[in-house]
Amino acid sequence: MLAQIKEDPKISEKKKKFDVIIIGSGPAGYTAAIYTVRAKRDTLVISGILPGGLLMLTTEVENYPGFADGIFGPELMSIMRKQTERMGATIVDDEVVNVDFKHKPFKVLTSSEEYESEAVIICTGASPRKIGAKGEQEFGGKGVSYCATCDGPFFRNQDIVVTGGGDTAMEEAIFLTKFGKSIHVVHRRDELKATKVMQERAFENQKIKFHWNKIVDEIIGKDKVTQIIIRDVVTNEKQTLDAGAIFVAIGHEPNTKIFKGQIELDEQGYIVLKDHTKTSAEGVFAAGDVHDHRYRQAVTAAGFGCMAGIDVDKYLSENKRK
Ligand code: NDP
Repeated sequence: MLAQIKEDPKISEKKKKFDVIIIGSGPAGYTAAIYTVRAKRDTLVISGILPGGLLMLTTEVENYPGFADGIFGPELMSIMRKQTERMGATIVDDEVVNVDFKHKPFKVLTSSEEYESEAVIICTGASPRKIGAKGEQEFGGKGVSYCATCDGPFFRNQDIVVTGGGDTAMEEAIFLTKFGKSIHVVHRRDELKATKVMQERAFENQKIKFHWNKIVDEIIGKDKVTQIIIRDVVTNEKQTLDAGAIFVAIGHEPNTKIFKGQIELDEQGYIVLKDHTKTSAEGVFAAGDVHDHRYRQAVTAAGFGCMAGIDVDKYLSENKRK
C-alpha cells in the first residue's frame, strides 16, 4: 500500500504523468533518459539522494571513452546531466520512497510527490560496503577507494592495502600488482572466501602479502592516506602498515530495498533480468550496477542504460493504451 499524500494545490498543478520514469541518475539513468527522450517519450528522471551517483565520489576517471586527458567524476556527471536536460528530460532531485508496479499506470512515490508512468527503468546502482574504520570517510577519494580498475593507476610504486577475502578482493589485489610496489591483503579470517583459482593466482603473486585474522582499525594521513592501522581479531595486537592507498573490497549492496516484493531479486538483492533489460514486472526495466555485479563500470552502466532506453521505447510502441 502506498502512503497517502495530502494534495497541495501548488503541487497538483505540476506535471505528474510521464511515459517513462527513470529512477537513479548515474551513467545508466542519464543514458537511458537520453535514449527515451530521443525516441520522443516524455521522460522523468528522479535523481536519488546522490544526484550523479557513485562517480560524484571519485576523483579522476581515465577509462571513460571520449576524454583524452581523463575527466573528474563529478564533472563527467555534470556533463551527462546537462546533456539529458538539454535533450528534454525532466529531472527532479528527490528520493523515491515507494513504488507500485502491480497496477498500471505505475506509481512512483517520493517524499513530496506521487508520479505515474507507463514504464519504469530502475537505475539505482549498488553501494560498496564500508568497513566503518576511523578515517574511511575523511579520506574518501584521497587514498580510500572502492574500485581498483578506477583508481589503481593513481598509486604507482606505492604500498597498497586491500581488505576483503572474496573474489573481488583477489581480483583487485592481482590487478593492483601492476602498479603498486607491494600489496597487503588484510582479511578478517584465516582463509579466503574467494574461489580456488583466484586464491591460487593471488598466492602465486610475489607482490601480495597476506595479513590473516586482521581488520582495519584506522586510516591515517594528512591530505592523503599514509598509514593503515590493522588489528588482530584473536590477540587484539595492533600493527601499522605504511601505505598510500586502501582498496575496500568487502562486497556491494544493491540499492533495491524499495523494490522488494514488487520485482524478482536474487538472494543478494540484485534485480533478476530476463530477455535483456526486462524485470519480472511487465513494463519495468533495469540497467546498471543494480543488476550487474560483474563489470560495475561507468561505461558498462551507460551501455545497459542505452539498452533499457531502446527496450522501453519498443515496449511503449507495442503496448499503447486504448
Ligand atoms: P563477497 O561477498 O564474495 O566477499 C566479501 C568478502 O569481504 C568476504 O571475504 C568477507 O569476509 C569480507 N567482509 C564482508 N564484510 C566485511 C567486514 N565488515 N569487514 C571485513 N571483511 C568483510 O563479495 P565479492 O565482492 O568479493 O564478490 C561478490 C560476488 O561476485 C561473488 O559471488 C563473487 O564470486 C563474484 N565475483 C566474481 C568474479 C570473477 O568471477 N572473476 C570477480 C569478482 C566477484 P568472510 O570471508 O569472512 O565472509
